[in-house]
Amino acid sequence: MITLHNIKGISRKSGHDTDANLWTEFYVDYLAEQEDGECVECGDIIDMGWMCLDGGDEYCLNHVEFCDTDGECSDCERLEEMEIVAQCIGQELEVTVKTE
Ligand SMILES: [Zn+2]
Ligand SMILES: [Zn+2]
Repeated sequence: MITLHNIKGISRKSGHDTDANLWTEFYVDYLAEQEDGECVECGDIIDMGWMCLDGGDEYCLNHVEFCDTDGECSDCERLEEMEIVAQCIGQELEVTVKTE
């Protein structure tokens, strides 16, 4: 089970784990001949879930939980600060997921 903090976005959400790795929600696009994902924790074959962009691990929705503390979580605050730094040095945090 991973816990994601600092969830952002509407159609394709992203968030950070406690190690500041960036995760993003993904959907397998069968029309684009993308392949199913596989949860690294339970091995379930999934057509949607969360993927770590720093390593490529995929998790099903049963093994992801979301921090929802309205900014009172110290991890959220720490990650928020890190993201501001990343934007200041010009890093684009919007991401595109390839599941091939
Ligand atoms: Zn799973
Ligand atoms: Zn949090």
